[in-house]
Amino acid sequence: MCPQCNRRLRLSLYIHDGRYKSCPECSGKRGIHVYHHFPDEFGWRNDIIQSWCKACRTHGTMPQGITCP
Ligand SMILES: [Zn+2]
Ligand SMILES: [Zn+2]
Repeated sequence: MCPQCNRRLRLSLYIHDGRYKSCPECSGKRGIHVYHHFPDEFGWRNDIIQSWCKACRTHGTMPQGITCP
């Protein structure tokens, strides 16, 4: 569970009017919801938004993101 909002870390949550989405993998690793800019830092597969951020899918490094407010 996220210590800030008490919701499961593996949920995809949106904040700032949908401009940021949480990454389930980043959130799980850091123990708090971690949000990245949406949709730029996620990307699409056909018409479906990717759940994990680009960094988690490619093992790359990603800007810090923002943690659960
Ligand atoms: Zn949270
Ligand atoms: Zn991620």
